[in-house]
Amino acid sequence: MTRILHRQIHAKLPTADGGHGVYLVDTAGRSYIDASGGAAVSCLGHGHPDVIAALHAQADRLAYAHTSFFTNTPAEALADRLIEGAPAGISHAYFVSGGSEAIEAALKMARQYYVETGQPGRRNIIARRQSYHGNTLGALAAGGNEMRRTQFHPLLIETHHIDPCFAYRFQEPGETDEAYAVRAAQALEDKVLELGPETVMAFVAEPVVGATAGAVPSVADYFQRIRAICDRYGIILILDEVMCGMGRTGTLHASTQDGIAPDLMTIAKGLGGGYQPIGAVLLSQRIFDAFANGTGQFQHGHTYICHPMACAAALAVQEAIARDNLLANVRTMGAYLSRRLGERFGNHSHVGDIRGRGLFMGVELVRDRSTKAPFEPDLNVHARVKREAMARGLLVYPGGGTIDGVRGDHVLIAPPFIIDAVTVDTVVDRLGEAIDAAI
Ligand code: PLP
Repeated sequence: MTRILHRQIHAKLPTADGGHGVYLVDTAGRSYIDASGGAAVSCLGHGHPDVIAALHAQADRLAYAHTSFFTNTPAEALADRLIEGAPAGISHAYFVSGGSEAIEAALKMARQYYVETGQPGRRNIIARRQSYHGNTLGALAAGGNEMRRTQFHPLLIETHHIDPCFAYRFQEPGETDEAYAVRAAQALEDKVLELGPETVMAFVAEPVVGATAGAVPSVADYFQRIRAICDRYGIILILDEVMCGMGRTGTLHASTQDGIAPDLMTIAKGLGGGYQPIGAVLLSQRIFDAFANGTGQFQHGHTYICHPMACAAALAVQEAIARDNLLANVRTMGAYLSRRLGERFGNHSHVGDIRGRGLFMGVELVRDRSTKAPFEPDLNVHARVKREAMARGLLVYPGGGTIDGVRGDHVLIAPPFIIDAVTVDTVVDRLGEAIDAAI
């Protein structure tokens, strides 16, 4: 009997025992194609020799030194590397242990920025429904996934939510992308005006919505309009690239494809590729300067910030991705995956939408393709597809949620960047069998 409080107490989980490349193996000897990298984490695949060597070397040298006494070499090198490739205006990195911690730190940076610059009335956070920003209380408050929030409402700080830009569900018939971008972005301006611009601190959004909506990019121009609204009212734009960032969509940062730069960006999963727990906030010079010229500190911190082992692993992961030019493979294999999904499911009666960017694709499952009517919640279609896929040696990440009364089931496909065309074919074949068996 297990002594671990697992996510699903009654689930019978296989025991993961090994990993190499795109495959995971359990103690019963079963092999799985890790077509979701867990939850879009394992971007480099499993068992990469360079990362293992970097971890050995770092463990031999130094495992830990508290950041109130020391900086350390891998953390400095990782920050240099990230800032070199960062969007315009981003000047510094703050290292934490994961995505939720990154969001918490980003929210506090936004707040401290306004305190330091003499606008202490700015406290309101605006985010989008059907987004996920993490499970700690601040991150949960920012997120718009009701299923995850419901029990904890009394503990959550007040936040404000607007509709996401989600073409499949909310673009009107006949409405152009341009008109939809204007309408969806207008929701932010309306909310800012309703709250009073002088009270608004930050707008938080995932450039490509991951876990709760299933790889949903916005329509062209939406984020440029969002950036302009934030600038007009002096609001900090926090882009949450914890899931969609670090190459997953084919460019290092997903928001590059939207043509904008944030004030704060959170990254995590693909940063360390699962070899160590690590996340980061990338912050702009403007915010850094406010701290540097003000109290001279960021009033925050955890025991494990800038952890040497985590930073060494992330550095090795990022070096391997760059050296092997894996983002080119993300673009090529992403296009191939998208085409193969279209061929296999384009006319499937229970597949309503296939979307995403790069190796970050979502397949939305519906009861009726023509009306987009979703499945009833208690059928748990996404969980059934996950189970059927696992039984066929395939890992895909399931999700379901409700926005404004509209429910959606989806599975997320986010394989390691090293995947090849033959494995993509196998992923699509097994997913097809799993969907047909589950529904
Ligand atoms: N933000 C986004 C967009 C995520 O997808 C997640 C996790 O799935 C988080 C934040 C929270 O990250 P973590 O689970 O590492 O705390």
